[in-house]
Parts: sequence; structure tokens; C-alpha cells
Amino acid sequence: MQNLIANRGDPHFRKSNQPLVMADPRQRAWIEVEPSAIESNARILKNLIGKSCLLMAVVKADGYGHGSETVARAALLGGADNLGVATLQEGIELRQSGITCPILLLGNLTESQELEACLCWDLMPTLSSAREALLCQRIAKAHVLQFDVHLKVDTGMTRLGCDFNDALALLGLIDSFQNVVLKGVYSHLALADEDSSKVTKQQQKKFEKLLHALSPRNESCCYHLANSAGTLRDSCLHYDMVRVGLALYGYSPNSNWRNDLGLRPALAVKARVTLIREVPKGVGVSYGHGFITKRPSRLAVVGIGYADGINRALSGKISALFNSLLIPQVGAITMDQLVLDVTDHSQVEIGSVVTLLGPDGGNCITPHTWSNWSGSIPWEVLCGFKHRLPRIVI
Ligand SMILES: *Cc1c(COP(=O)(O)O)cnc(C)c1O
Repeated sequence: MQNLIANRGDPHFRKSNQPLVMADPRQRAWIEVEPSAIESNARILKNLIGKSCLLMAVVKADGYGHGSETVARAALLGGADNLGVATLQEGIELRQSGITCPILLLGNLTESQELEACLCWDLMPTLSSAREALLCQRIAKAHVLQFDVHLKVDTGMTRLGCDFNDALALLGLIDSFQNVVLKGVYSHLALADEDSSKVTKQQQKKFEKLLHALSPRNESCCYHLANSAGTLRDSCLHYDMVRVGLALYGYSPNSNWRNDLGLRPALAVKARVTLIREVPKGVGVSYGHGFITKRPSRLAVVGIGYADGINRALSGKISALFNSLLIPQVGAITMDQLVLDVTDHSQVEIGSVVTLLGPDGGNCITPHTWSNWSGSIPWEVLCGFKHRLPRIVI
């Protein structure tokens, strides 16, 4: 006894000398990721866009919460030609994991130190201005290297990209730089997931105008415009390459479109019931007592909460799946736990696994369903799950 207490200051302290007992990552709450679904989705998308078009798998934000290396490898297996990430760090991590395909940074870099790292890790930056282009030339010249870049032109998104009217001058400038090689020219659609196509048509028209001004085409330069929505909406938007995120993860950007493609969700958020409570009518549940039982109730406490990414704003609005049946969540969602009303679900017991998002039996809670509950969008839902949830590849 004396000895054990003395040993607690030891960083390797354990109470027992028995072989290590590790916590099962599926004890409390976790995310299951199915790379075979990503691979199959990539194959479907590749098939959709045809042989003359490249597929960029967009794996930013840790692969939309799935784990970027896992999805990058699965997408490449399924036929993706290259990868898109948002940040320098995301690109470097993929390189460090041994991925060698072309990688485009979709965000922009402002500091020469960042651009230098970009060059050294063989990542392609997105340029939006002469300032960035000039920095690239200087850095590449100093390293006696060639800097492959993509130029982004704004056609109506009004975010990154140079002004449409400056594009030709900027292209001329890049062309005059000895160490900078233009590998792509692209733009981004602002409303491609909406049913109306007016703005998309205008953006497409501008993009075509640019392509026309650039003809005859530089064959080593890739022209691209479409995200998932553009890719699924119209093959006229495909050009040399499409940049696909959401569809790669198994969801159509507009839940009314192309549900015939066979895209399959690759992620499921699961958690276990840790306690069952039998309570009378008229009992307040969780912080604030926002829910009062209307009948004698059976409640299941589940080990997942807002610190895992189940937003508190969803309190009382979401349901979880058990044996493909929807079970309502009641009361405030707390940091680490939430409560389900299982009065009508006597099969739910301690240790039962419920699905907060994803497929379960013949049913599925999609990020679209979640966004309808919360006023969010599927993209935000997917990258909102925190890293306290272990990602388990199955
Ligand atoms: C994130 C992103 C994409 C992918 O968008 P999805 O709608 O998820 O397909 C494509 N292009 C750019 C520039 C992006 O930032």
C-alpha cells in the first residue's frame, strides 16, 4: 500500500503490474469510417465525369471529419487523380504520411515563409494576386526550383481569386516568370447547389469567356470550376477537372438530386447507453429542466455531448437510431452526455449502441437531416465532430 502511493509521482505509474488494460475506443462514443465507401464513391464520380476529366478529391478539414489520410488513400484507390486541401499544414501532413500525388492548396498563403514551405513540400498554392505570384517567383528562383501554381479567378463567388478583369494581365505576368509554372486556372461556384441556375450560368459564362481569351490552350494547364454541386448538376461544368468534397463522402449537395448514383455515406457517429433511468411523470430532465416528462418514462443516458460535436442548439430536436428506429433526444445536451426517451423502446439497455448520424439497419440519419434540425448545412455538420471521438476505420 505504502509503495503504491509513493509511486504515484512516477509518470509511468500504474496501480497494477498486470498486462496493460487498454480502454476500448468503442466504449463511449466514436466515429466509424468506411474507406471502401469513399473508394466506391470516387469510382462512381470518376465514371460520371468520364475519361477526359480529372477527379480532385477534396480532403480538407481532416477529410470532412473522416480522417484525411484515410479518405485520401481510399479516394486515390477509387481513381481520384489528385487531392485538394485548405491549409499548408493539411498538405504537409499528407506528404508526411507518404502521399505523393499532386496536392493543391485551396486556401491562399500570404507569407513568403509559408510559400517556401509549400514549394519544399511539393504542394501547389492557389494564387489570387500579383503579390503572391511575385513572391513565388522570388522564392523559386532562390531555391533554383520550379514552382507549380494554380491561378484562381473570381467569377462571382467574391471570396478568393483575382478580379475577373485582372485575370489576363495576371496570367501574362505569371507567364513572364521563369520559375513559376501555371498548372491550373480555376474558379468557384457560389450557388451551384440551389435549384435555380441563374448565377451558376453567369459564372459559367464568365469562365468560358476567360477560356476563350486563353485559346489556343496551354495543354499542361488544367481548367476547373465545379465542386460537388457543379459536378452533379451539369457535365458542361466539368472542364478538365472537378473538385469534389461532399459527394465523395456519400452525399448529394442538394438532397433532391442524383440520388440514383449509388453514393454511400462513409461515416457513422455512434455512442453507448451508459445508464437507464425509470422516472415518474412530471420530472425535469437535464440542465434547465427544458423537458418535463409527460408520463412515467424510461430514459437512457448516452455518453456523447457537445464536447464531441453534438451541438447544444440541437437539444430536444434530434433523434438517434437504434435497430433502425428513431428515438427522440430530450432535455439539454450537455458537454459529455445526452438523454434519450426510450419509454417506447424497451430493447434499449445499458451498453446498447445508438447511431447519432449515419446508417443503422435500413435507416439513415444524414447530414441533411441534421441540418434540417439545426439550421446548418451538411458540410458544417460533417466537420463539426470533435477529435475526442476516436475515428475507427472499418
Ligand atoms: C471545399 C471546396 C471544394 C469542395 O466542395 P464540395 O461542395 O464539398 O464538393 C471545391 N472547391 C473549393 C475551392 C473548395 O474550397
